[in-house]
Amino acid sequence: MNHRFTKILATIGPASSAPDTLRLLHDVGVNAFRLNFSHGSHEDHAKSVKRIRQVSKDAGHPICIVADMQGPKLRVGPFKGGSTELRYGDIVSLQLGDGEGEGGIIKVPHPELFAVLEPGHVIKFDDGKLMVTVESNSGNEIKAKVNVPGKLGDRKGLNVIGAVLPMSAMTDKDRIDMAFALTQEVDYIALSFVQTAKDVSDAREIIGDKAGIIVKIEKPSAVEQLDSILDLADAVMVARGDLGVELPLERVPVVQRQIIRKARALGKPCIVATHMLESMIDSPTPTRAEASDVATAVYLGTDAVMLSAETAVGRHPATAVAIMDRIIRAAETDPEFWDYFKSRRLPHDSNSEDAISHSVRGIAEIMSCKAVFGYTASGTTVQRISRERPPCQIVGLTPSQATANRMALSWGVRPLKTMDPANFDEMLRHIQHLARDDIGLEKGDPIMISAGIPFGRPGSTDTLKVATVD
Ligand code: PEP
Repeated sequence: MNHRFTKILATIGPASSAPDTLRLLHDVGVNAFRLNFSHGSHEDHAKSVKRIRQVSKDAGHPICIVADMQGPKLRVGPFKGGSTELRYGDIVSLQLGDGEGEGGIIKVPHPELFAVLEPGHVIKFDDGKLMVTVESNSGNEIKAKVNVPGKLGDRKGLNVIGAVLPMSAMTDKDRIDMAFALTQEVDYIALSFVQTAKDVSDAREIIGDKAGIIVKIEKPSAVEQLDSILDLADAVMVARGDLGVELPLERVPVVQRQIIRKARALGKPCIVATHMLESMIDSPTPTRAEASDVATAVYLGTDAVMLSAETAVGRHPATAVAIMDRIIRAAETDPEFWDYFKSRRLPHDSNSEDAISHSVRGIAEIMSCKAVFGYTASGTTVQRISRERPPCQIVGLTPSQATANRMALSWGVRPLKTMDPANFDEMLRHIQHLARDDIGLEKGDPIMISAGIPFGRPGSTDTLKVATVD
Protein backbone atom coordinates (compact mmCIF):
# COMPACT_ATOMS: atom_id res chain seq x y z
CA MET A 1 0.00 0.00 0.00
CA ASN A 2 1.50 3.31 -1.05
CA HIS A 3 -0.75 5.47 1.07
CA ARG A 4 0.37 6.19 4.68
CA PHE A 5 -2.54 6.73 7.07
CA THR A 6 -0.84 8.07 10.22
CA LYS A 7 0.57 11.56 9.76
CA ILE A 8 3.95 13.03 10.71
CA LEU A 9 4.21 16.43 12.40
CA ALA A 10 7.77 17.82 12.52
CA THR A 11 9.01 20.74 14.62
CA ILE A 12 11.02 23.40 12.81
CA GLY A 13 14.21 24.78 14.34
CA PRO A 14 17.74 25.72 13.33
CA ALA A 15 18.35 22.19 11.97
CA SER A 16 15.39 22.30 9.60
CA SER A 17 14.37 25.86 8.69
CA ALA A 18 16.46 26.21 5.51
CA PRO A 19 14.23 26.07 2.40
CA ASP A 20 15.95 22.96 0.98
CA THR A 21 15.66 21.12 4.29
CA LEU A 22 11.95 21.93 4.60
CA ARG A 23 11.45 20.64 1.08
CA LEU A 24 13.42 17.47 1.85
CA LEU A 25 11.47 16.87 5.07
CA HIS A 26 8.21 17.17 3.14
CA ASP A 27 9.50 14.84 0.42
CA VAL A 28 10.49 12.13 2.93
CA GLY A 29 7.13 12.23 4.68
CA VAL A 30 6.24 15.33 6.74
CA ASN A 31 2.53 16.24 6.49
CA ALA A 32 2.50 19.08 9.01
CA PHE A 33 5.08 21.46 10.49
CA ARG A 34 5.13 22.90 14.02
CA LEU A 35 6.45 26.37 14.79
CA ASN A 36 7.53 26.38 18.44
CA PHE A 37 6.90 29.87 19.86
CA SER A 38 9.02 29.02 22.94
CA HIS A 39 11.95 29.66 20.62
CA GLY A 40 12.69 31.89 17.64
CA SER A 41 11.57 35.39 16.65
CA HIS A 42 8.43 36.39 14.78
CA GLU A 43 10.67 37.08 11.82
CA ASP A 44 11.99 33.48 11.93
CA HIS A 45 8.46 32.06 12.09
CA ALA A 46 7.21 34.30 9.26
CA LYS A 47 10.08 33.07 7.08
CA SER A 48 9.23 29.44 7.87
CA VAL A 49 5.55 29.94 7.02
CA LYS A 50 6.48 31.51 3.68
CA ARG A 51 8.88 28.68 2.87
CA ILE A 52 6.40 25.94 3.80
CA ARG A 53 3.66 27.54 1.69
CA GLN A 54 6.11 27.56 -1.23
CA VAL A 55 6.98 23.86 -0.70
CA SER A 56 3.26 23.10 -0.60
CA LYS A 57 2.61 25.04 -3.80
CA ASP A 58 5.51 23.38 -5.66
CA ALA A 59 4.52 19.88 -4.51
CA GLY A 60 0.79 20.44 -5.07
CA HIS A 61 0.06 19.04 -1.57
CA PRO A 62 -1.69 20.97 1.20
CA ILE A 63 0.59 21.14 4.29
CA CYS A 64 -0.68 21.90 7.78
CA ILE A 65 1.11 24.54 9.92
CA VAL A 66 0.76 24.46 13.71
CA ALA A 67 1.78 27.48 15.82
CA ASP A 68 2.57 26.15 19.30
CA MET A 69 2.25 28.77 22.06
CA GLN A 70 4.72 28.71 24.96
CA GLY A 71 1.99 29.05 27.60
CA PRO A 72 2.67 29.75 31.27
CA LYS A 73 5.88 27.74 31.36
CA LEU A 74 7.61 28.50 34.67
CA ARG A 75 11.37 29.03 34.57
CA VAL A 76 14.10 29.80 37.10
CA GLY A 77 16.18 32.94 36.51
CA PRO A 78 19.80 33.02 35.33
CA PHE A 79 22.83 32.11 37.49
CA LYS A 80 26.24 33.74 37.94
CA GLY A 81 28.45 31.54 35.75
CA GLY A 82 25.47 29.96 33.96
CA SER A 83 24.50 27.28 36.51
CA THR A 84 24.46 26.18 40.13
CA GLU A 85 24.99 22.77 41.73
CA LEU A 86 22.14 21.44 43.92
CA ARG A 87 23.60 18.90 46.38
CA TYR A 88 21.61 16.08 47.99
CA GLY A 89 20.15 17.10 51.37
CA ASP A 90 21.08 20.81 51.10
CA ILE A 91 18.49 23.49 51.85
CA VAL A 92 18.18 25.89 48.91
CA SER A 93 16.49 29.29 48.83
CA LEU A 94 14.02 30.20 46.05
CA GLN A 95 13.68 33.98 46.05
CA LEU A 96 10.97 35.99 44.31
CA GLY A 97 12.42 38.37 41.74
CA ASP A 98 14.65 38.86 38.74
CA GLY A 99 18.43 38.94 38.78
CA GLU A 100 21.05 36.23 39.02
CA GLY A 101 21.12 33.38 41.52
CA GLU A 102 24.27 31.74 42.88
CA GLY A 103 25.26 29.04 45.33
CA GLY A 104 22.06 27.86 47.01
CA ILE A 105 20.03 30.88 45.84
CA ILE A 106 17.62 30.44 42.93
CA LYS A 107 15.80 33.49 41.58
CA VAL A 108 12.20 32.83 40.49
CA PRO A 109 10.20 35.57 38.70
CA HIS A 110 6.74 34.00 39.32
CA PRO A 111 4.73 35.44 42.29
CA GLU A 112 2.01 32.76 41.72
CA LEU A 113 4.41 30.17 43.12
CA PHE A 114 4.97 32.09 46.35
CA ALA A 115 1.20 32.62 46.71
CA VAL A 116 0.31 28.93 46.97
CA LEU A 117 3.24 26.69 47.86
CA GLU A 118 3.19 25.01 51.25
CA PRO A 119 5.53 22.65 53.11
CA GLY A 120 5.45 19.22 51.43
CA HIS A 121 4.87 20.48 47.88
CA VAL A 122 7.42 19.21 45.39
CA ILE A 123 9.22 21.35 42.78
CA LYS A 124 10.94 19.73 39.80
CA PHE A 125 13.50 21.45 37.58
CA ASP A 126 14.73 20.82 34.04
CA ASP A 127 12.03 18.35 32.87
CA GLY A 128 12.07 16.59 36.23
CA LYS A 129 15.79 15.88 36.32
CA LEU A 130 16.19 17.66 39.71
CA MET A 131 13.75 17.74 42.61
CA VAL A 132 13.29 19.65 45.90
CA THR A 133 10.61 19.55 48.63
CA VAL A 134 9.27 22.78 50.14
CA GLU A 135 10.08 23.21 53.87
CA SER A 136 8.80 26.77 54.38
CA ASN A 137 7.34 29.72 52.45
CA SER A 138 7.52 33.29 53.80
CA GLY A 139 5.73 34.82 50.80
CA ASN A 140 8.85 35.92 48.97
CA GLU A 141 11.29 33.17 49.93
CA ILE A 142 10.78 29.42 49.76
CA LYS A 143 13.22 27.14 51.58
CA ALA A 144 13.38 23.67 50.06
CA LYS A 145 15.38 20.47 50.59
CA VAL A 146 17.17 18.85 47.65
CA ASN A 147 15.93 15.27 47.06
CA VAL A 148 17.31 14.71 43.57
CA PRO A 149 20.60 16.59 43.09
CA GLY A 150 22.30 17.87 39.95
CA LYS A 151 23.38 20.91 38.01
CA LEU A 152 20.68 23.56 37.43
CA GLY A 153 21.30 25.80 34.42
CA ASP A 154 20.06 29.28 33.45
CA ARG A 155 16.30 29.61 32.81
CA LYS A 156 15.56 25.90 33.07
CA GLY A 157 11.89 24.87 33.33
CA LEU A 158 10.20 24.41 36.68
CA ASN A 159 7.13 22.27 37.49
CA VAL A 160 5.13 22.29 40.71
CA ILE A 161 3.63 19.00 41.83
CA GLY A 162 0.55 18.80 44.02
CA ALA A 163 -0.63 22.42 43.76
CA VAL A 164 -2.80 24.25 41.20
CA LEU A 165 -1.29 27.65 40.43
CA PRO A 166 -3.71 30.53 39.77
CA MET A 167 -2.54 31.05 36.18
CA SER A 168 -4.39 31.28 32.89
CA ALA A 169 -3.20 29.13 29.97
CA MET A 170 -2.54 32.36 28.05
CA THR A 171 0.25 34.75 28.98
CA ASP A 172 0.76 38.25 27.55
CA LYS A 173 3.44 36.75 25.30
CA ASP A 174 0.94 34.14 24.06
CA ARG A 175 -1.60 36.86 23.17
CA ILE A 176 1.02 38.70 21.14
CA ASP A 177 2.29 35.47 19.52
CA MET A 178 -1.25 34.31 18.75
CA ALA A 179 -2.19 37.59 17.07
CA PHE A 180 1.00 37.34 15.03
CA ALA A 181 0.41 33.67 14.11
CA LEU A 182 -3.10 34.57 12.87
CA THR A 183 -1.66 37.23 10.56
CA GLN A 184 0.46 34.40 9.10
CA GLU A 185 -2.69 32.32 8.47
CA VAL A 186 -1.44 29.27 10.34
CA ASP A 187 -3.85 26.31 10.34
CA TYR A 188 -3.83 25.37 14.03
CA ILE A 189 -2.84 27.14 17.24
CA ALA A 190 -1.65 24.81 20.01
CA LEU A 191 -2.38 25.92 23.59
CA SER A 192 0.12 24.84 26.25
CA PHE A 193 -0.68 23.97 29.88
CA VAL A 194 -4.46 24.09 29.41
CA GLN A 195 -6.12 23.38 32.78
CA THR A 196 -9.85 23.95 32.19
CA ALA A 197 -12.43 24.29 29.39
CA LYS A 198 -12.43 28.04 30.11
CA ASP A 199 -8.81 28.23 28.93
CA VAL A 200 -10.04 26.93 25.56
CA SER A 201 -13.05 29.26 25.34
CA ASP A 202 -10.83 32.25 26.25
CA ALA A 203 -8.50 31.36 23.37
CA ARG A 204 -11.49 30.82 21.03
CA GLU A 205 -12.58 34.41 21.65
CA ILE A 206 -9.31 35.57 20.12
CA ILE A 207 -8.90 32.89 17.45
CA GLY A 208 -12.52 32.59 16.31
CA ASP A 209 -12.59 30.41 13.18
CA LYS A 210 -9.31 31.79 11.82
CA ALA A 211 -7.44 28.65 12.98
CA GLY A 212 -8.20 25.35 14.69
CA ILE A 213 -7.32 24.94 18.37
CA ILE A 214 -5.10 22.07 19.55
CA VAL A 215 -5.19 21.55 23.31
CA LYS A 216 -1.93 20.24 24.74
CA ILE A 217 -2.67 17.86 27.59
CA GLU A 218 0.19 18.16 30.05
CA LYS A 219 -1.39 19.11 33.41
CA PRO A 220 -3.14 16.73 35.85
CA SER A 221 -6.11 19.14 35.97
CA ALA A 222 -6.49 18.83 32.17
CA VAL A 223 -6.53 15.03 32.45
CA GLU A 224 -9.24 15.29 35.12
CA GLN A 225 -11.35 17.59 32.91
CA LEU A 226 -10.51 15.95 29.61
CA ASP A 227 -14.11 15.60 28.35
CA SER A 228 -15.08 19.26 28.78
CA ILE A 229 -11.75 20.42 27.33
CA LEU A 230 -11.98 18.12 24.28
CA ASP A 231 -15.56 19.24 23.65
CA LEU A 232 -14.34 22.79 22.95
CA ALA A 233 -11.12 21.88 21.11
CA ASP A 234 -10.58 21.00 17.44
CA ALA A 235 -7.65 18.65 18.08
CA VAL A 236 -5.51 17.38 20.96
CA MET A 237 -1.84 16.73 21.67
CA VAL A 238 -0.55 14.23 24.22
CA ALA A 239 2.32 16.49 25.36
CA ARG A 240 4.28 13.73 27.04
CA GLY A 241 7.27 15.92 27.97
CA ASP A 242 5.56 18.02 30.62
CA LEU A 243 2.86 15.40 31.26
CA GLY A 244 5.57 12.99 32.44
CA VAL A 245 6.88 15.57 34.89
CA GLU A 246 3.52 16.71 36.22
CA LEU A 247 2.08 13.19 36.55
CA PRO A 248 3.83 10.05 37.78
CA LEU A 249 5.68 8.65 34.76
CA GLU A 250 3.73 5.39 34.77
CA ARG A 251 0.50 7.34 34.12
CA VAL A 252 1.75 8.64 30.75
CA PRO A 253 0.97 5.48 28.68
CA VAL A 254 -2.40 5.12 30.39
CA VAL A 255 -3.38 8.74 29.72
CA GLN A 256 -2.00 8.53 26.15
CA ARG A 257 -4.31 5.60 25.40
CA GLN A 258 -7.28 7.34 26.99
CA ILE A 259 -6.75 10.55 25.00
CA ILE A 260 -6.32 8.73 21.66
CA ARG A 261 -9.59 6.83 22.21
CA LYS A 262 -11.60 9.86 23.27
CA ALA A 263 -10.31 12.02 20.44
CA ARG A 264 -11.14 9.35 17.89
CA ALA A 265 -14.67 8.92 19.26
CA LEU A 266 -15.17 12.68 18.90
CA GLY A 267 -13.65 12.72 15.40
CA LYS A 268 -10.92 15.18 16.44
CA PRO A 269 -7.29 14.67 15.42
CA CYS A 270 -4.87 13.45 18.08
CA ILE A 271 -1.09 13.97 18.08
CA VAL A 272 1.29 11.91 20.21
CA ALA A 273 4.32 14.06 20.99
CA THR A 274 7.76 14.13 22.57
CA HIS A 275 10.67 11.72 22.94
CA MET A 276 9.42 9.59 20.03
CA LEU A 277 12.86 9.20 18.42
CA GLU A 278 14.77 11.24 21.02
CA SER A 279 18.10 9.41 20.62
CA MET A 280 18.15 10.53 16.97
CA ILE A 281 19.02 14.06 18.12
CA ASP A 282 22.57 12.66 17.97
CA SER A 283 22.40 9.11 16.66
CA PRO A 284 21.60 8.14 13.03
CA THR A 285 19.30 5.31 14.22
CA PRO A 286 16.71 5.19 17.01
CA THR A 287 16.64 2.72 19.88
CA ARG A 288 14.44 -0.36 19.51
CA ALA A 289 12.27 0.99 22.34
CA GLU A 290 11.71 4.26 20.44
CA ALA A 291 10.72 2.36 17.26
CA SER A 292 8.30 0.37 19.37
CA ASP A 293 6.90 3.54 21.01
CA VAL A 294 6.06 5.08 17.61
CA ALA A 295 4.43 1.82 16.49
CA THR A 296 2.37 1.62 19.71
CA ALA A 297 0.90 5.08 19.10
CA VAL A 298 0.10 4.03 15.51
CA TYR A 299 -1.55 0.76 16.60
CA LEU A 300 -3.69 2.74 19.07
CA GLY A 301 -4.95 4.80 16.14
CA THR A 302 -3.41 8.20 16.75
CA ASP A 303 -3.85 10.61 13.83
CA ALA A 304 -0.29 11.91 13.99
CA VAL A 305 3.06 11.37 15.65
CA MET A 306 5.37 14.29 16.34
CA LEU A 307 9.09 14.93 16.15
CA SER A 308 10.43 17.71 18.39
CA ALA A 309 14.15 18.26 18.97
CA GLU A 310 14.86 15.44 16.48
CA THR A 311 13.98 17.78 13.59
CA ALA A 312 14.37 21.16 15.35
CA VAL A 313 17.97 20.84 16.53
CA GLY A 314 18.96 17.22 15.78
CA ARG A 315 21.82 16.05 13.59
CA HIS A 316 19.64 13.86 11.32
CA PRO A 317 16.27 15.58 10.74
CA ALA A 318 15.46 13.95 7.39
CA THR A 319 16.60 10.49 8.53
CA ALA A 320 14.38 10.81 11.62
CA VAL A 321 11.36 11.51 9.38
CA ALA A 322 12.28 8.70 6.96
CA ILE A 323 12.63 6.20 9.82
CA MET A 324 9.34 7.34 11.38
CA ASP A 325 7.70 6.84 7.97
CA ARG A 326 9.08 3.27 7.78
CA ILE A 327 7.94 2.40 11.32
CA ILE A 328 4.41 3.69 10.59
CA ARG A 329 4.15 1.82 7.28
CA ALA A 330 5.32 -1.44 8.89
CA ALA A 331 2.59 -1.19 11.54
CA GLU A 332 -0.07 -0.19 8.99
CA THR A 333 0.63 -3.26 6.82
CA ASP A 334 0.05 -5.58 9.80
CA PRO A 335 -3.49 -7.07 9.65
CA GLU A 336 -3.69 -6.64 13.46
CA PHE A 337 -3.63 -2.87 12.91
CA TRP A 338 -6.92 -3.06 11.00
CA ASP A 339 -8.48 -5.68 13.28
CA TYR A 340 -8.12 -3.31 16.24
CA PHE A 341 -10.35 -0.69 14.57
CA LYS A 342 -12.96 -3.31 13.68
CA SER A 343 -13.16 -4.37 17.30
CA ARG A 344 -13.68 -0.91 18.78
CA ARG A 345 -17.19 0.41 18.37
CA LEU A 346 -17.81 4.15 18.04
CA PRO A 347 -20.80 6.14 19.32
CA HIS A 348 -22.88 7.37 16.36
CA ASP A 349 -25.12 10.42 16.10
CA SER A 350 -28.48 9.75 14.53
CA ASN A 351 -27.89 11.71 11.32
CA SER A 352 -27.08 11.00 7.67
CA GLU A 353 -23.46 12.14 8.05
CA ASP A 354 -22.65 9.49 10.68
CA ALA A 355 -24.72 6.83 8.89
CA ILE A 356 -22.80 7.47 5.65
CA SER A 357 -19.39 7.61 7.36
CA HIS A 358 -20.09 4.34 9.14
CA SER A 359 -21.23 2.68 5.88
CA VAL A 360 -18.03 3.80 4.16
CA ARG A 361 -15.96 1.50 6.36
CA GLY A 362 -18.21 -1.55 5.65
CA ILE A 363 -18.31 -0.92 1.90
CA ALA A 364 -14.53 -0.35 1.78
CA GLU A 365 -14.03 -3.74 3.45
CA ILE A 366 -16.52 -5.68 1.32
CA MET A 367 -15.51 -4.17 -2.03
CA SER A 368 -11.80 -3.55 -1.29
CA CYS A 369 -12.31 0.08 -2.31
CA LYS A 370 -9.15 2.00 -3.12
CA ALA A 371 -10.47 5.40 -2.04
CA VAL A 372 -13.43 7.32 -0.72
CA PHE A 373 -13.78 10.85 -2.13
CA GLY A 374 -15.46 13.15 0.39
CA TYR A 375 -16.70 16.63 -0.48
CA THR A 376 -16.41 18.89 2.53
CA ALA A 377 -16.67 22.62 3.28
CA SER A 378 -15.48 22.72 6.89
CA GLY A 379 -13.72 19.32 6.97
CA THR A 380 -16.24 17.81 9.42
CA THR A 381 -17.65 15.14 7.06
CA VAL A 382 -14.18 13.93 6.16
CA GLN A 383 -13.25 13.92 9.84
CA ARG A 384 -16.29 11.70 10.56
CA ILE A 385 -15.15 9.30 7.81
CA SER A 386 -11.57 9.38 9.14
CA ARG A 387 -12.64 8.44 12.69
CA GLU A 388 -14.15 5.22 11.26
CA ARG A 389 -10.58 4.27 10.19
CA PRO A 390 -11.70 2.72 6.85
CA PRO A 391 -9.14 0.55 5.01
CA CYS A 392 -8.86 2.89 2.01
CA GLN A 393 -7.47 6.34 1.47
CA ILE A 394 -9.82 9.24 2.20
CA VAL A 395 -9.58 11.98 -0.41
CA GLY A 396 -10.81 15.20 1.21
CA LEU A 397 -12.13 17.53 -1.52
CA THR A 398 -12.72 21.15 -0.60
CA PRO A 399 -12.67 24.58 -2.24
CA SER A 400 -11.16 26.01 0.98
CA GLN A 401 -7.36 26.11 1.22
CA ALA A 402 -7.60 26.41 5.03
CA THR A 403 -9.77 23.26 5.26
CA ALA A 404 -7.39 21.40 2.92
CA ASN A 405 -4.37 22.38 5.03
CA ARG A 406 -6.04 21.34 8.28
CA MET A 407 -7.07 17.95 6.86
CA ALA A 408 -3.37 17.17 6.24
CA LEU A 409 -3.13 16.34 9.97
CA SER A 410 -6.04 13.88 9.97
CA TRP A 411 -5.67 10.10 9.84
CA GLY A 412 -5.87 8.64 6.33
CA VAL A 413 -6.87 11.89 4.65
CA ARG A 414 -5.32 13.09 1.43
CA PRO A 415 -6.57 16.66 1.03
CA LEU A 416 -7.19 18.13 -2.40
CA LYS A 417 -8.24 21.72 -3.03
CA THR A 418 -10.77 21.74 -5.84
CA MET A 419 -13.93 23.58 -6.86
CA ASP A 420 -17.29 22.04 -5.97
CA PRO A 421 -19.10 20.59 -9.02
CA ALA A 422 -22.38 22.14 -10.15
CA ASN A 423 -24.41 18.92 -10.03
CA PHE A 424 -24.33 15.13 -9.60
CA ASP A 425 -23.26 14.30 -13.22
CA GLU A 426 -20.48 16.85 -13.16
CA MET A 427 -19.35 15.34 -9.83
CA LEU A 428 -19.05 11.86 -11.40
CA ARG A 429 -16.97 13.20 -14.31
CA HIS A 430 -14.84 15.24 -11.93
CA ILE A 431 -14.11 12.27 -9.66
CA GLN A 432 -13.13 10.02 -12.61
CA HIS A 433 -10.63 12.65 -13.66
CA LEU A 434 -9.24 13.16 -10.12
CA ALA A 435 -9.03 9.41 -9.45
CA ARG A 436 -6.86 8.80 -12.52
CA ASP A 437 -4.83 11.99 -12.80
CA ASP A 438 -4.37 13.14 -9.18
CA ILE A 439 -4.68 10.00 -7.07
CA GLY A 440 -3.17 7.54 -9.57
CA LEU A 441 -5.98 4.95 -9.43
CA GLU A 442 -6.48 2.49 -12.27
CA LYS A 443 -9.35 1.42 -14.50
CA GLY A 444 -11.64 -0.93 -12.59
CA ASP A 445 -10.62 0.24 -9.10
CA PRO A 446 -13.69 0.42 -6.81
CA ILE A 447 -14.25 3.81 -5.18
CA MET A 448 -16.87 5.70 -3.16
CA ILE A 449 -18.04 9.31 -3.24
CA SER A 450 -19.72 11.08 -0.34
CA ALA A 451 -21.35 14.47 -0.84
CA GLY A 452 -24.05 16.84 0.30
CA ILE A 453 -26.25 17.92 -2.57
CA PRO A 454 -26.57 20.82 -3.31
CA PHE A 455 -22.83 21.27 -2.80
CA GLY A 456 -21.09 23.72 -0.45
CA ARG A 457 -23.44 23.69 2.54
CA PRO A 458 -21.65 22.47 5.71
CA GLY A 459 -23.43 19.62 7.52
CA SER A 460 -25.50 18.52 4.53
CA THR A 461 -23.86 15.17 3.62
CA ASP A 462 -26.70 12.96 2.34
CA THR A 463 -25.31 11.00 -0.63
CA LEU A 464 -23.01 7.98 -0.96
CA LYS A 465 -22.20 6.68 -4.45
CA VAL A 466 -20.27 3.47 -5.18
CA ALA A 467 -18.45 3.52 -8.53
CA THR A 468 -15.50 2.10 -10.43
CA VAL A 469 -12.74 4.04 -12.15
CA ASP A 470 -13.32 3.91 -15.92
C1 PEP B 1 5.56 18.49 25.65
O1 PEP B 1 5.67 18.94 26.79
O2 PEP B 1 5.58 17.28 25.39
C2 PEP B 1 5.40 19.44 24.53
C3 PEP B 1 5.13 19.03 23.30
O3 PEP B 1 5.46 20.77 24.81
P1 PEP B 1 6.75 21.72 24.65
O4 PEP B 1 7.64 21.07 23.64
O5 PEP B 1 6.19 23.00 24.20
O6 PEP B 1 7.35 21.76 26.00
